[in-house]
Amino acid sequence: PKNTISNSDLINYRKEHLGKSLSLQYKIPIKMVRGNGQYLIDQYGKKYLDTVNNVAHVGHENYNVVKAGQQQMALLNTNSRYLHENINALAKELIETLPPELNVLHFVNSGSEANELAIRMVKAATGERDIIASEIGYHGNSNMCIDMSSYKFDGKGGKGAPEHTHIFPLPDAFRGKYRGENTADKYAEEVQKQIDIVHKKGRGVGAFIIEPIISCGGQVELPEGFLAKAYKKVRAAGGLCISDEVQVGCGRLGKTFWGFQLHNVTPDIVTIGKPLGNGHPLAAVACTQEVANKFANGMEYFNTFGGNPVSCAIGAEVLKTVKRDNLQQNALNLGEFLKAEFKKLAKEFPIIGDVRGQGLFLGIELVDANLNPLAAQTDYLANRMKDYGILMSTDGPDHNVLKIKPPIIFTQENAEELILYLTKIFKEDFMLSK
Ligand code: PMP
Repeated sequence: PKNTISNSDLINYRKEHLGKSLSLQYKIPIKMVRGNGQYLIDQYGKKYLDTVNNVAHVGHENYNVVKAGQQQMALLNTNSRYLHENINALAKELIETLPPELNVLHFVNSGSEANELAIRMVKAATGERDIIASEIGYHGNSNMCIDMSSYKFDGKGGKGAPEHTHIFPLPDAFRGKYRGENTADKYAEEVQKQIDIVHKKGRGVGAFIIEPIISCGGQVELPEGFLAKAYKKVRAAGGLCISDEVQVGCGRLGKTFWGFQLHNVTPDIVTIGKPLGNGHPLAAVACTQEVANKFANGMEYFNTFGGNPVSCAIGAEVLKTVKRDNLQQNALNLGEFLKAEFKKLAKEFPIIGDVRGQGLFLGIELVDANLNPLAAQTDYLANRMKDYGILMSTDGPDHNVLKIKPPIIFTQENAEELILYLTKIFKEDFMLSK
């Protein structure tokens, strides 16, 4: 197709008429015009390998997913007040992957909406509104979600934790408050401290919400045993446990389909988003019969788009694809390969302080000899990789973690290409200057 509007005109219009706090990636923004599997293609036909997009879970514009959406869209799209096979079919696909206790689903349109609904359920089920969450956690863009996202309220433009949010230190065994092996008890004690603070205020705990690997925190893996200990303490205080699987869910972590399963716990509520719709706005909340019954207190839950036949056709096809094409296994194999290769790189380039993550949800943390974060080098790497046609993202409170979370159809060749160019760039003067 002809490009009739110049990129600078697109940028200028955005600046004037689109939200002032929307950001653009890269100093010279890219205009993408097509997606294809693990690749994005820009206006000049340049193909980029995408290691960022955990939304395009089974591949950008996956043929079967697109077809499922197109066919249903041509036939019917309505709200969920009429009977329809698709909503039941998607529920069944999800329930098959979840522990038997988590067998009630509500469908919504975004991760934020899923967490928002989860907290409404908590309030209805416990009568409490105090939430315990991790430092640098992110749970979405709505009022309630921002109020429990330290990543936002402790960052630029934020005003700190609201009265009913209680933040415990990021359970980061590399550069966190407690480091090294066996930190689970210490971080679980920090959760207990927050429970005690809620009690001292004369109130009860509503919920504990956390991601199984803390994404915005810089791909921080929870210390082994931490989640089980924290859940025990929260439940003893009458609170519910929420696993935010919006980033990590649907097979990405390789060993297990859901992140909480890595930790041998069963949450009361699980929130699911991004990958479920493979780019289409679709998210879900899974909960127990008990929570669902308490939430159904007489007030109808209505969601205009949630659970519509088109979204459900898409979601069911995404899950079928993950299962049929053994993509969880692929995420495991390639994740293990990449992690081993990154560890080799870390031996060669000491600024790689830590390599972590599971499956195709990995992080590489760059630090100097005193463990000071190297944000400039991390940014340089992501930008140089783009020059070689590889898209990468950075995160963490100190912006020094390179994140790898590609579509899980990623191949061995893709992984090798990634390592090849990373190795090349780690040898550049700018990277060696520290
Ligand atoms: N939870 C987590 C862990 C997330 O990473 C995000 C989005 N980055 C959300 C919730 C919110 O999802 P959405 O942007 O779809 O509302």
